[in-house]
Amino acid sequence: MQAIRELAELVRRRQPVVVLTGAGISTESGIPDFRSATGLWAAYDPMQYATIRAFRRDPVKVWEFYALRFSILTEAHPNAGHFALAELERQGLVEAIVTQNIDGLHQAAGSREVLEVHGSIRTAVCLECGERVPFEQAVAALQDRPAPPCPHCTAILKPDVVMFGELLPEAPMLRAIELARTAGLLLAVGSSLEVYPVAELPQETLAAGGMLAIVNRGSTRFDALAAVRIDNTAGETLAAVVADLGGATPRPA
Ligand code: NAD
Repeated sequence: MQAIRELAELVRRRQPVVVLTGAGISTESGIPDFRSATGLWAAYDPMQYATIRAFRRDPVKVWEFYALRFSILTEAHPNAGHFALAELERQGLVEAIVTQNIDGLHQAAGSREVLEVHGSIRTAVCLECGERVPFEQAVAALQDRPAPPCPHCTAILKPDVVMFGELLPEAPMLRAIELARTAGLLLAVGSSLEVYPVAELPQETLAAGGMLAIVNRGSTRFDALAAVRIDNTAGETLAAVVADLGGATPRPA
């Protein structure tokens, strides 16, 4: 396919390549995204489950939602898209991945430079004293109580993911902006590019003279600005790019 060849060529020629991923790269691992017709927002109102205001108003309801998501997230395995990006990094063709995902699947696939700009499901955090505990410990506490208490100060813990209305973690976001500005190519994969400030990263790359490529099922507001735009699944597309570059996408033993 011509577009695969063009994308592979851009990856080869437009170093350094920075990848920006969203929920769409993990749907092939069985984790629903937010905005597709079958995404989470079709069943759950984001205003009631994903805002910091909703958490402060009714943490029990938010924990019920996250306990449900946690079992899906922890049972998921990386797919061909995650493995392809890890392989490109191994080949020195991807400098870093900036991810909006909280599922840890890039690291599970072997990617090393992963910036989690929306937090992760690995931990829960106390908004009062800053204590962090492993997420499974917080979920285990739900056996006895409707919301897990901080072991240090007994305030209610929050999933350590960025909710709407919260600031993004400063260090990874500053690094992500720096990477976007110096990228020869920003490759956005599986993201609607609707959620700010991450959705500003393509603009940072373009303004600094870099190029943009998009692999996403469905349109995004940046489509007209992309040098290559592939409307197909992330796994198949990225594995084909790796193959075009002369490699093979490894799978776990
Ligand atoms: P989004 O739901 O807004 O967009 C996902 C995009 O991916 C959609 O355009 C969809 O059509 C596309 N898509 C779905 N499956 C695909 C596939 N197999 N291949 C290619 N494209 C595919 O998600 P977003 O842009 O990441 O932003 C919203 C928020 O979603 C982020 O804050 C993130 O934290 C959160 N989120 C994360 C996970 C996760 O960690 N896996 C899951 C759901 C939501």
